[in-house]
Amino acid sequence: MAEIERHSFDVLVVGAGGAGLRAAIAAHDAGAKVGIVCKSLLGKAHTVMAEGGIAAAMANVWKEDNWQVHFRDTMRGGKMLNHWRMAQLHAQEAPDRVRELEEWGALFDRTPDGLISQRDFGGHRYARLAHVGDRTGLELIRTLQQRAVALGIEVFMECTITKLVTTGGRIAGAFGYWRESGRFVAFDAPSVVLATGGIGKSYKVTSNSWEYTGDGHALALEAGASLVNMEFVQFHPTGMVWPPSVKGILVTESVRGDGGVLRNSEGRRFMFDYIPEFFKAETADSEEEADRWYEDKTNNRRPPELLPRDEVARAINSEVKAGRGSPHGGVFLDIASRRTPEYIRRRLPSMYHQFKELADVDITAEPMEVGPTCHYVMGGVAVDPDTGESAVQGLYAAGEVAGGMHGANRLGGNSLSDLLVFGRRTGLNAAYAAARLKQRPEISDDEISAASEHALAPFGIEGGENPYTVQHDLQEVMHNLVGIIRTADEMEQAITDLASLRERITRLSVEGHRQYNPGWHLALDLHNMLRVSECIARAALERTESRGGHTRDDFPATDDSWGKVNLHCRVDGDGVGITREPLPQMPDDLRELFN
Ligand code: FAD
Repeated sequence: MAEIERHSFDVLVVGAGGAGLRAAIAAHDAGAKVGIVCKSLLGKAHTVMAEGGIAAAMANVWKEDNWQVHFRDTMRGGKMLNHWRMAQLHAQEAPDRVRELEEWGALFDRTPDGLISQRDFGGHRYARLAHVGDRTGLELIRTLQQRAVALGIEVFMECTITKLVTTGGRIAGAFGYWRESGRFVAFDAPSVVLATGGIGKSYKVTSNSWEYTGDGHALALEAGASLVNMEFVQFHPTGMVWPPSVKGILVTESVRGDGGVLRNSEGRRFMFDYIPEFFKAETADSEEEADRWYEDKTNNRRPPELLPRDEVARAINSEVKAGRGSPHGGVFLDIASRRTPEYIRRRLPSMYHQFKELADVDITAEPMEVGPTCHYVMGGVAVDPDTGESAVQGLYAAGEVAGGMHGANRLGGNSLSDLLVFGRRTGLNAAYAAARLKQRPEISDDEISAASEHALAPFGIEGGENPYTVQHDLQEVMHNLVGIIRTADEMEQAITDLASLRERITRLSVEGHRQYNPGWHLALDLHNMLRVSECIARAALERTESRGGHTRDDFPATDDSWGKVNLHCRVDGDGVGITREPLPQMPDDLRELFN
């Protein structure tokens, strides 16, 4: 076997978004030798795209806010399927994580009396999102990145991990390739933290960028971990629908938080027709009350445009299906008639430029056209809530790739806080575990040979399937058959189609050399995308109810008996098997918060 490049760390972090950087900083602070690997350039992760803010009950705007209310909002938003302990830790620790970012140099918007400002978002009872205009993710990444670099943490950019190596059932390290040269590299590490983000690229319309092919989900699954809640995929209600080249790009929820309203082609604020029983008590039932809320939040209830994302996305879907959509198949999001141009440009600078440059629409003068876009996966690696460790010893996960925290539906702003809270916890615990080890596991040459052979397979097949065609077909299957509204017939069809795609990816062939070859990279990503898609389709077929980010046309009601179980996916032969597992029991003192 040819010699390959090798590195050795105590903790290897795969992914340089917010979760990965926060984990790396924590592991370094705990005394570990840490390396970070990322598929794209440092600073290019998904986190940088986050617009609205970081949810944390700091009580800067509403003194009534506290961790208990945040915990309750998160659990209710997740339709009570969240792991209660993760939701508790998240609500308790998020304020400290935001303050810590500020200490490290992040510049947040301020309240008139100089505190970190907090804005309204769907599903949060109080204005709770710490923000930097609509560029919060950029500031978060800038701050963490500067700190990680200043600490001297080694970063391997444009390097993709294709396999986790285990020995005796525990993690020994990871194997990957350099995108530029195509050469292989192995990392020996007794603790590996997955922080690889989401899976959106399996869908046709998505706010996610090219990197989000579910790599971490699939790597964990294949290493022996389980994925939980995979049927719950969040379709953000407001993506751009026009022009086609930018379809799916996100329009932040802050537009609605700052006064924007949704209208159909008849000019009607249709969200009043879609207020579910569960949220009736706290949602305004007239336009007058909804509008008064922006000025007087104590004596009025929230506008229905700020219901959780799953509710709003389904409502938009129904309006479009009923023929009341906008010219390009969405609905209208109007802030122009409700706020001054100066206010809009100050509060939503990125949105102003995004629409001006990409769609030639001036959002201070006319409404935007928006529709649902695949945005976030609630499902992910099942982890211990306190340590972030998966069922595979030495394998950790944090951020979007981890499951459990958000249950059936994530509230806006809760991802940035999630990745800070659990990034830190996971990094610390990964470092402690590595330090406790008496003997380090080793990656064998056989493992490296097998991983190399697998990665090079597409070069050995002539005249086979084109990876781009297969990706296109996969996205069609997921969009058409496992999208926002699901039925058994369609999902059974999807599972059949996915099986045939699985067969087709054994015959992928790529042209050219190993040096910077995007076709080859996609061929490798497709294995992951298919694994994850199969998990989503199978779990969605199994759950015969509607809840959060999973809506069944054939089972439209929420079923209490399904509120007691989570679905776990594990590798089963060539495919994926599903098991039902009881929810962890919430202690009585927390349960009382819901009475
Ligand atoms: P990411 O930031 O997605 O980073 C993943 C990293 O993993 C990247 O560095 C990538 O290169 C690397 N990677 C992936 N696969 C591999 C591999 N095989 N090998 C090596 N490296 C790999 N959430 C909020 O809370 N508030 C918001 O306002 C908000 N706004 C958003 C706006 C947009 C447009 C989008 C798309 C999302 C938004 N979200 C928001 C969601 C939030 O940004 C993401 O869920 C979160 O940033 C995910 O962070 P992460 O650290 O888990 O992963």
